[in-house]
Amino acid sequence: CVATFLMMTSFLSTINHFQMVSTVALPDDDIFTLDIVSKIHVDHDSTAKASSDFGRIVEAIPNGVFHPTSPADIAALIRLSISQSKPFTVAPRGQGHSARGQALAPGGIVIDMRSMGRGNHGYHANVSSDELWVDVGGEQLWIDVLHATLEHGLAPRIWTDYLHITVGGTLSNGGIGGQAFRHGPQISNVHELDVVTGMGEMITCSQDKNSDLFFAALGGLGQFGVITRARIALEPSPKRVLWVRIAYSDVESFTSDQELLISKRSNGSGFDYIEGQVQLNRTLTEGRRSSSFFSASELDQLAELVLRTGSNAIYYIEGAMYYNDDTASSVNQKLERQLEELSFAPGFVFVRNVSYLEFLDRIGREEQKLRSAGVWDVPHPWLNLFVPKSRILDFDASVFKGILRDAKPVGLILMYPMNKNMWDDRMTPATPDGDVFYAVGLLRSAVAAGDLERLEGENAAVLEFCDREGVGCKQYLPHHASPDGWRRHFGEKLGRVAAMKRRYDPRAILSPGQGIFPTGA
Ligand code: FAD
Repeated sequence: CVATFLMMTSFLSTINHFQMVSTVALPDDDIFTLDIVSKIHVDHDSTAKASSDFGRIVEAIPNGVFHPTSPADIAALIRLSISQSKPFTVAPRGQGHSARGQALAPGGIVIDMRSMGRGNHGYHANVSSDELWVDVGGEQLWIDVLHATLEHGLAPRIWTDYLHITVGGTLSNGGIGGQAFRHGPQISNVHELDVVTGMGEMITCSQDKNSDLFFAALGGLGQFGVITRARIALEPSPKRVLWVRIAYSDVESFTSDQELLISKRSNGSGFDYIEGQVQLNRTLTEGRRSSSFFSASELDQLAELVLRTGSNAIYYIEGAMYYNDDTASSVNQKLERQLEELSFAPGFVFVRNVSYLEFLDRIGREEQKLRSAGVWDVPHPWLNLFVPKSRILDFDASVFKGILRDAKPVGLILMYPMNKNMWDDRMTPATPDGDVFYAVGLLRSAVAAGDLERLEGENAAVLEFCDREGVGCKQYLPHHASPDGWRRHFGEKLGRVAAMKRRYDPRAILSPGQGIFPTGA
């Protein structure tokens, strides 16, 4: 006990936050038994790694990085914080793949969630084949969840495009992808959570049990607790995928076809996955000469379509049809029947036949290419918006054919619709009005000098356009620099969000990098 206390004292003395070590009150004995202190690393290497993220725009140094091996460790750390007269902030960090410092804890403690995987807390992908769910730790990567569930011939129903991010990280945001039109975001596919609240309590919650915490934590931006386990819905996994891209030179046909496709929600008809991309003129004429999907000659064909039609942008729907051995003979006819209903540029259909795993992990392969080209670890001033269907054509005209008309080709622009009724409004995320809204992702990278300032300027102009014209956009993976920005973001939900914060994190210590609430009250 004495040795632990001495270690604790020496750790605390390295932390600026604790100005008077002698006044630190130790909450109870389990702090000692769990040996929390020895799991906090304060060396420069550890804190430097936790002081930035995928975005590489914001930097903030924590005072230490905590390596828990169980939810009880996390609970003890939080109780230690709130036992102080001036608590320290605590940020769970999954993969740190946020873009604006959301997983940072300036002067506080970052929880390295991935170290939970090295513990033995018992939820490393326990699959129930009968009830079609899997229990996974909040620290687990979706790619590992995929591998674990495939062993049972099962898989989660909805996927983010990139799988090397954590369950807790995506469930704290929403988790969107091409299957969301049918199944909703990842947060709509969770049966139960274990959460360690900002009071240091370990609570199991679901729609029927502690439901206020369940709904608050899903899409909750890490504000109400640390998700340590999630029970996620599964479906039988398909073996193979017809992966299709269909090009358009006009936005009206592109959007009306996308909306037609997402209206086919019942299983068995239409595509199983629908997304879309915008390729600005310069992307096709000056951008990369091949991609993980298109060959160089196909990109030439697309560039020729731009020139021929005089369009400033082309669009393509990305669709996927799943199939198995028993449906292999009919899937091509199913695709043809579906294509007959669409109004794409004649001849511009590109089809790949890949395994389900290859399809889902497609961005993992792209990451390897970008890493080898030295353009992965660069600043990513990403802007993700939900745009109401009623304003998507205005958005296209003013943003893609206006603000970004001559934008340098540095990255990717996603644009695809989702059905709002697949989102549960009791959960924390803010979504626009209307039955359908588009996810528009300006996923661009700053690869050369001056890119970051220029891209930030373009993002600001896009946001200014949305505000000025009353487009009714909501940011996804939101970042707002002012309390007023957050007020407008949450709108009618603000009162509930604030009440849940008072209830589950009254000292406001959790995920300070989101910048929603003043920290450490
Ligand atoms: P982090 O960045 O580590 O954390 C994000 C936030 O959640 C922080 O506030 C953190 O404190 C909090 N947090 C982390 N873990 C927990 C936990 N266990 N409990 C409570 N709070 C926690 N998103 C999509 O929806 N769809 C996509 O298709 C998609 N594609 C992407 C592709 C790439 C290449 C990248 C880099 C990101 C993509 N994202 C996508 C965004 C991604 O979902 C978020 O950035 C997500 O937060 C990343 O997970 P992470 O584990 O890195 O979280």
